[in-house]
Amino acid sequence: TPSPPVPSTPTAAADRAHVFHSWSAQAQISPAEITRARGSHFWTADGTRYLDFSSQLVNVNIGYQHPRLVAAIQEQAEKLLTVSPAFANESRSEAARLIAELAPGDLDAVFFTNGGAEATENAMRMARLHTGRHKVLTTYRSYHGATAGAIAATGDPRRWGSEPSIPGIVHFWGPYLYRSAFHASTEAEECERALQHLRDTIMVEGPATIAAIMLETVVGTNGVLVPPDGYLEGVRRICDEHGIVFIADEVMAGFGRCGEWFAVDRWDVTPDLICFAKGVNSGYVPLGGVVISAAIAATFADRPYPGGLTYSGHPLACASAVASIGIFRDEGILEHVRGVEETVLRPGLEAIAERHPCVGEVRGVGFMYAVELVRSRETREPMVPFNASGAAAAPMNEFAAACRKGGLWPFVHFNRTHVVPPCTTTADEMRQGLEILDSALTVADAHVTD
Ligand code: PLP
Repeated sequence: TPSPPVPSTPTAAADRAHVFHSWSAQAQISPAEITRARGSHFWTADGTRYLDFSSQLVNVNIGYQHPRLVAAIQEQAEKLLTVSPAFANESRSEAARLIAELAPGDLDAVFFTNGGAEATENAMRMARLHTGRHKVLTTYRSYHGATAGAIAATGDPRRWGSEPSIPGIVHFWGPYLYRSAFHASTEAEECERALQHLRDTIMVEGPATIAAIMLETVVGTNGVLVPPDGYLEGVRRICDEHGIVFIADEVMAGFGRCGEWFAVDRWDVTPDLICFAKGVNSGYVPLGGVVISAAIAATFADRPYPGGLTYSGHPLACASAVASIGIFRDEGILEHVRGVEETVLRPGLEAIAERHPCVGEVRGVGFMYAVELVRSRETREPMVPFNASGAAAAPMNEFAAACRKGGLWPFVHFNRTHVVPPCTTTADEMRQGLEILDSALTVADAHVTD
């Protein structure tokens, strides 16, 4: 591994001396220093401006430094900065009221957390206590966070370093037609076989031992896997048959990312619990939570809920969620996402797929797309192996470097690049980003073998 460059600013030097970064070998990294950001762009310390196709960690849905959101945070900071969860507070009540209003069905109560992992962690706890059962089923291609329960629930390799993990998690295969675990060749076949596989998994695990099935409504980091029509409805039916709690993890898919408030709205499915974070306030202040059905809330009507967080429902975070929801409504951000997806993003990516032999598949919904890179369209061999790092990941690193050289900040995971820009990205910015992506893919074409 080549040594990282010598830090060029005091900030970069202090970062390398004292900041311990997530998911990283500390001696092998040299994090880019961001000095300012606005709308769909951010600037690094050397003055370079990047168009952001990653929304940081797919969370800056409203774009950077939205003036009305910044003002709402300033106003709340003047008014009241902190109260414990045991008190009632105006911004928390209003955030909960608005989120309950947006959520489907009778999901009318909100438990606030500081982020996504605490949301999935608490959703699993609620499901276990509500059902009196202990197992939770999740898919292999999933990420649910990095605390003890959430990382156990996670199916992807980020789980490996924390094993052995908490007992009671069972992984199964979800639908993914391009690399079908069920040898399916149509969406309908994939849907039917994936549901049968889930039924079989439940049968052999024992339905009466299963508290919950937790799914990312649209799988995020693990590939932007949009469920085929009928799949989520099928999961809902299976849960109802066996008294299993259906948890939708919408930490990434919710709040505009899929062109909906909640991604389940696309399929008209009502889960029992919805986990949210990221887009609820675009990470301007850490916030997440669980929206809870009437039946599960009733379990804790006369029995204390055994969970809590010092900053649950933090007034500053909740005020920013209230303002963000208002801005989304006033600026028609969901409609904007659907419009730009339809007129620019999807057709643009489809045209790119035609031009580049390295593109195996383009898929997605809203402002959440994946471009899957392959060595061969024929065999679908991934551009880099599953979980590749170091030299094995070189083709994807070269592609990412070409994007950055062109002024685009890409999101790259294994053999895919995800197009996940802020939901406020204009049609023109989207076109510019796609042009840079288009020319960067030429670098990956060089690795194609057929
Ligand atoms: N669930 C999903 C679907 C996510 O994408 C993430 C984060 O990427 C999480 C949970 C964990 O959220 P956090 O990093 O805020 O704990």
